[in-house]
Amino acid sequence: MKQVCRAAQAEGRLIGLVPTMGALHDGHSSLVRAAQQRCSPVVVSIFVNPAQFGPNEDLANYPRQMERDRGLLEELRVDYLFAPTAAEIYPAGFQSYVNVDGLGDKLEGRSRPGHFRGVATVVLKLFEIARPQAAFFGRKDAQQARVIERMTADLNLDTEIVVCPTVREPGGLAMSSRNAYLSAEERAAATALSRSLRAVANEIARGERDALRLTAIIREQLSKEPLAHVDYAEIVDKNTLERVTLLRGQCYALLAAHVGKTRLLDNLLICESGGGFTVSL
Ligand code: AMP
Repeated sequence: MKQVCRAAQAEGRLIGLVPTMGALHDGHSSLVRAAQQRCSPVVVSIFVNPAQFGPNEDLANYPRQMERDRGLLEELRVDYLFAPTAAEIYPAGFQSYVNVDGLGDKLEGRSRPGHFRGVATVVLKLFEIARPQAAFFGRKDAQQARVIERMTADLNLDTEIVVCPTVREPGGLAMSSRNAYLSAEERAAATALSRSLRAVANEIARGERDALRLTAIIREQLSKEPLAHVDYAEIVDKNTLERVTLLRGQCYALLAAHVGKTRLLDNLLICESGGGFTVSL
């Protein structure tokens, strides 16, 4: 992969990288299309990264469907699929990790200690292997994108980080490889996540600016769904991911919840503009 990417770079081509864990869905395809608009060749990596899973998490059960994914990437005319083994990425004796302190410790980091250390480490390795001009991430995992932006700035990396909008099922559920774990009943219940964020959007449109009252709406909406259990619901500054008390500038309403045994994420982007706020789910 390194040789292929160095050769492309020597020809002056702009490499685009889309890091994934596979079990590809339309969210991943949207990142591929965004990459293809700006870069050639496009490299998609598929690597279920053991370093970002906690000891009691779903590493063993994480959906793996390499042949199906390969076919999809062929249909999308992706130039290269990079699918290393865990032993290639973490050979015996491996002991260097990247910590993004602060940004990596809150929210997801609090619920999943060590998660972003695993993410940042593998993404830095992928960046060094592919040396992409640009790398494409989904806003569905807003904190992850922010951690990667921070790492890229802090370590003087040359890769531009492009964050793409969340792709959703018709019922509003954010697409995720983990949705495959949901039973039909849980899948219906999981639409409560995006509904709760829509309720927040409605209250903002009616003039609500108080972050505590807005997070209370998320909890209240989700409490109506017996299969859903909130892990956290917070309104934070888009850059620092620190909690805000009043909406200001650019913020995220970030939410993690269990539906049955499946942990799902969702968020709403809230941007101050022209005296009001615009929101995007
Ligand atoms: P994953 O395979 O879940 O690690 O995700 C790989 C990349 O796809 C990450 O940058 C995710 O944020 C992004 N992604 C996952 N789900 C979606 C979605 N529904 N819409 C847009 N991007 C997504």
